[in-house]
Amino acid sequence: MELNNKRQEKGKKIAEKQDQITRIDEDHYLVKSQSNNKQYDVIATENGWTCTCPDHCFRQVCCKHIHAVEVSLEIRKTVKEQVTINEIQNNSCPKCHSTNIKKDGIRHNKNYDIQRFKCRDCNKKFSINLGFEKMKASPQIITSALQLYFTGESLRNTQKFLELQGVKVTHKTVWNWIRKYTNLMEKYLEKITPQVSDKWRTDELYLRIKGDRKYLFAMMDDETRFWIAKQVSTHKNTDDVRPMFRESVKVAGKKPKVLISDGAKNFAQAHTKEWYSRYKKDQSIHIRHVHFKNDMNNNKMERLNGEIRDREKIMRGLKKEDTPILSGYQIYHNYVRSHMGLDGKTPAEACGIKIAGKNKWKTLIQNASQS
Ligand SMILES: [Zn+2]
Ligand SMILES: [Zn+2]
Repeated sequence: MELNNKRQEKGKKIAEKQDQITRIDEDHYLVKSQSNNKQYDVIATENGWTCTCPDHCFRQVCCKHIHAVEVSLEIRKTVKEQVTINEIQNNSCPKCHSTNIKKDGIRHNKNYDIQRFKCRDCNKKFSINLGFEKMKASPQIITSALQLYFTGESLRNTQKFLELQGVKVTHKTVWNWIRKYTNLMEKYLEKITPQVSDKWRTDELYLRIKGDRKYLFAMMDDETRFWIAKQVSTHKNTDDVRPMFRESVKVAGKKPKVLISDGAKNFAQAHTKEWYSRYKKDQSIHIRHVHFKNDMNNNKMERLNGEIRDREKIMRGLKKEDTPILSGYQIYHNYVRSHMGLDGKTPAEACGIKIAGKNKWKTLIQNASQS
């Protein structure tokens, strides 16, 4: 008993020291040995925690490493800084910012009607349509088109749907909306840092762009499924994926403690060059082909593969690599689509970024236009 208390005390000390414990998964931790350079695996099993250290292996006791993990789990606070992107209330004069305004008739567009206002203070006449000024369709129609397109409909199907709503535009116009608003939202969202976890996952997917086979590389946060960075490339050498490693750090404001990949050489080398040798005091580890018991993590990347592969048909019609489609899809994946695995939250919400309003596209576009 006394000995166990000692182990507990030692465990507490380990947990309180910095960088002694690496979280691989909620069921798997690496704990540094206190006497040599080894790291021990502390793994949750049906019969409780196990550790690979001699103390646990030979004596079958709850060793200090297991105590350390238990204590650190209690200490670990998952309070994330919350950012809320609010809906914008359209109720002030664009010239003098007075809210003393009155309705001033309706302007009829080809595809929709728009309310006009007049400022009682400066007499300015205006319509309030932030982000959607001079567009051929209403915010509702345009954001519906974005939603349809990014959930997998083709440009033509999207255009036909709009036609049924009484909105006559060409599929080229729909394409222009997608490009315009994706660019706008992308620039705005760059300024917001998602609070991602310390375990990331990377993989490659195949795409066809204008008939050519291309690689799409993706860096995902394991815990929140936030798609941190991407890269399209003709080849899959180390230098082809390195920019994505740098971009990921820029987006997340940190590098992960653990990177999981399929074990391909390009990822291993990029990890070593970009992270391992660059951050001497704060090493990260690279794990290949990790399979845990009853683990759904292995499917996470494959699920993204599925989402994107469904869209190959549409990608085929593209002419350029810097297509806004992938950026738009990334925005849809991170900020709009709710995920079953996250209890219906979006990855952004899981990262502390909340987008208010029923129409997240509209909230994003209006905020992006204002900034
Ligand atoms: Zn141990
Ligand atoms: Zn005014």
